[in-house]
Amino acid sequence: MPKKQPRNSFYFFMLDFKEEQRKKGIQYANMAEIANAAGPLWREAPQSVRVKFEAIAKEEKEKRNIPLQKFTSTGVPLSEIERQNRELQEAAEAEKQDINDLIKLKCFNKAIYWEDFYLMDVNYYCKVDSTYLIGEFAVLRFNLRDGIKEQYHKNINPGHIPTGYASDVKHGSQELGLEMPDEDPQKRTDYIHILAYIIDYLHQHNQEDRPNSQRPDMKNFPPIFTVPEKVEAVQDFIIQLCNKASEDDSLFRVYRLDTLLFTLVNGLASSKEMMLPKESLAMGHLKQDGFKYTPGLGCQHHEDLDKSTECAKSRVTRWAYSVLDLALPRTDVEPAPGKHVPHDYNIEGILQFKEQRKVRAGPSVASPSAGPSCSSTANTSLNDSTASTSFTRALRTHTPLRKPNMDFASKLRVAPEITEQDFKPITSRRTGRGRGDLAGSFNNMNISK
Ligand SMILES: [Zn+2]
Repeated sequence: MPKKQPRNSFYFFMLDFKEEQRKKGIQYANMAEIANAAGPLWREAPQSVRVKFEAIAKEEKEKRNIPLQKFTSTGVPLSEIERQNRELQEAAEAEKQDINDLIKLKCFNKAIYWEDFYLMDVNYYCKVDSTYLIGEFAVLRFNLRDGIKEQYHKNINPGHIPTGYASDVKHGSQELGLEMPDEDPQKRTDYIHILAYIIDYLHQHNQEDRPNSQRPDMKNFPPIFTVPEKVEAVQDFIIQLCNKASEDDSLFRVYRLDTLLFTLVNGLASSKEMMLPKESLAMGHLKQDGFKYTPGLGCQHHEDLDKSTECAKSRVTRWAYSVLDLALPRTDVEPAPGKHVPHDYNIEGILQFKEQRKVRAGPSVASPSAGPSCSSTANTSLNDSTASTSFTRALRTHTPLRKPNMDFASKLRVAPEITEQDFKPITSRRTGRGRGDLAGSFNNMNISK
């Protein structure tokens, strides 16, 4: 590439000089000639003239930003990428601050016990451009005092399969146990109805079982939490609903569940020993998915397919149990079966279930430190350095939360193998009743509520 003429103050002086000479009828062949002619004048020029042309040069430089402009191999200006990264970072910081504001103050007077948290998960067939073709969603509400309150779950029929995506949709439906979309307009999901339900559901936030003085004002919807790899999909699902219903999607906030867990646990901790030293440990605890093999948590469709671990309803329930598992030992709340821990939590059922699965991934976790609390899985992740480093790595790979340029589905990892020891403290207090009763037990709970 030929070197460009530097656009300094002398350059602009030369342009001016050239124009003045042209008016007098004097022409120059090239810039070098002009430079020779204008050079002595520039050196003699008074300060006021120099200042004038320096200002022009500075203005031009800012306008063009040439010295800073660098490009990636795909032709995107680096400054643009830096700007996007900066925005993502600012959004992540604002999210952390928001979660902090939500939690920290309430931990002092136990108001946090009544604070309702919402968890949402979606299953999608595939990504079509930047939108997700959603096939199932579930939302759940829980708080520390009452555990899981109720869930709302729906299989979604998006109807039309976008041209060219038939095989992707088929693959996604097999992978996740979703029904294939049905083109019949009668069977299409009514998105507006779902959004109305979600809004009603969010409005129930903190409304029951709490002293009037502690009831919040409902200016904003409470944030919706999900795991980092689902933030974009959940956000996109809400945007899709809002677009169909002409609702303002900026009313909704979708935040990371690991940040909530970390902030919550450390807010509740009464001593330094009770705190999580690193945020990645909260993520590690969620990834460990200690309740993965609890039978009966999925929707009927996934249970029938024997694919309940992939069910959105099962996932939000497991997340809630995982959060409570780590948070409750730092409170004076006694865990109640069916609310804070699964109804029928028996080791035999889990082992059987595991045998059927034969899902194996990664090395077995280190043996947890003994303790009567139900947070043994937390201890495990704290003690197991290999587990936590791999989780840290996983966390770093998906920095862009809002506009990632990759498909997070490929980042989903199978949880590490769970050993008997992980379940001992909980199962020791419960005797199982077997699998079949479970689906009903949640409903019973809801009705009695
Ligand atoms: Zn399901």
